[in-house]
Amino acid sequence: MLKLIESLIRYEIRQNVIKERDYVYVRNQLFNLLRIEPTDQDISYESIGYPSDALDPILDILEEQHILDGSKVARDLFDAKIMNVFAKLPSEIEDLFFNLYKKDSKLATDWYYNYMKALNYIRSERIEKNEFFKTSSIYGDVEITINLSKPEKDPKSILAASKVKSLAYPKCVLCAESEGFAGNPSRDSRDQHRLIELNVNNEPWYLQYSPYTYYNEHAIVLSKEHRPMKINQKTFENLLELCEQFNHYLFGSNADLPIVGGSILSHDHYQGGNYVFPIEKAKTLDSWKKDGITYNLKKWPLSTLVIKSKSKEALIKKAVSILDKWKNYDNADLDIKSYSDDTPHHTITPIARIEDGFYTLTLILRDNQTSDEHPLGIFHPHADKWHIKKENIGLIEAMGLAILPARLKTEMAFVKSYLLTQKQLPDEALKHKDFAQKILNEHQIDKDNVDEILEQAIGEVFVSILEDSGCFKQNKEGISAFKSFIKDELI
Ligand SMILES: [Zn+2]
Repeated sequence: MLKLIESLIRYEIRQNVIKERDYVYVRNQLFNLLRIEPTDQDISYESIGYPSDALDPILDILEEQHILDGSKVARDLFDAKIMNVFAKLPSEIEDLFFNLYKKDSKLATDWYYNYMKALNYIRSERIEKNEFFKTSSIYGDVEITINLSKPEKDPKSILAASKVKSLAYPKCVLCAESEGFAGNPSRDSRDQHRLIELNVNNEPWYLQYSPYTYYNEHAIVLSKEHRPMKINQKTFENLLELCEQFNHYLFGSNADLPIVGGSILSHDHYQGGNYVFPIEKAKTLDSWKKDGITYNLKKWPLSTLVIKSKSKEALIKKAVSILDKWKNYDNADLDIKSYSDDTPHHTITPIARIEDGFYTLTLILRDNQTSDEHPLGIFHPHADKWHIKKENIGLIEAMGLAILPARLKTEMAFVKSYLLTQKQLPDEALKHKDFAQKILNEHQIDKDNVDEILEQAIGEVFVSILEDSGCFKQNKEGISAFKSFIKDELI
């Protein structure tokens, strides 16, 4: 145990999380927390690569001593307390962040991102175990991750959660009051969680990194106030303002309606990061220019319009006009419907970036109707693809990065073995039977090509899911209707 503690302290000194001067203090704190007899003897240590290299065996020992009950939850709750011993107070972290920010915003985010990794808030070693691959499609490459650290939510539970008026403290997992929160079995610990307060258009917001890191420097920006997601003029203004503050990042928002929104509708927040998504590399189907604004209609399975301008004000005004128009747009031939009585169906998933001095907004049109045929959503993954994914298509996936549930890792191992041997699939993988059969019908499978063919087939299902989610389909009729929708804006 002593050697593990020493290794962890030495790691945090190497990462500049603490200084040599802090050594005695930190060690005494850990002795107390881990219920070890204090000592001043010199202890050897190992040079570890991740905090978890020391934390995991420390937690094993605590389980043997029955200090922890052996559950995964108890481990995660406790290792956050160990790491919090190393963490500075929020105000000190903000001072360091903004001192760097004065020189260059990238220096500030680089430091903060690495600091949160070194504190194990971002659990890098788990994230690196996630599966990641790219597959080709007629829309360009799409990207797939199989995420091993987050449970799958279906739209109904997301909708139900959005209706619960929670009295708990903090009100939700995003709330700023989570900073330093000890957690409990139903709420992750946030002991070493630290936020950076930002001023976004004269309103307090906070920057943090996602502990799940679906892509490089996956950032979350949340409003200080716990209030529902809302896509309106303010959203466009805030996203572009954030791009001005951190011009090496893109920022986007999930839509604000169930089914087409993200997993959290109850707290206003955006996502950002240092990553170029497949949607940004998609080809342009058609392009127009008017009054200093360029319009690009994208060849992309979701209905995507990119508008660009040197003038931020003009761009925001145009985005609002397109949003308003979409909110009231109906096209019975294409099953597109703006309202059922007073219930709105239409919203936008927006993404902002500043590129070569141009303000850019990517507007993805969304419709959340349900029908008897598609009870979870007409423009949502259809039932024949639920064996791969049933969850909402939120911002990240709409941009072409699939976040697939952890269960697929084991299930795909069964499918792979089935493709090679055609021996019976186990019960838990039976839902993939048709999928596997289709692959067998189309390919000559051997052990050298099976991985690539299976990945490509998963990618094809993902693309098909995105096509389900597109309002104007990428066929002659859909494209033509999409063009007339935009062209009204050009008159
Ligand atoms: Zn909240």
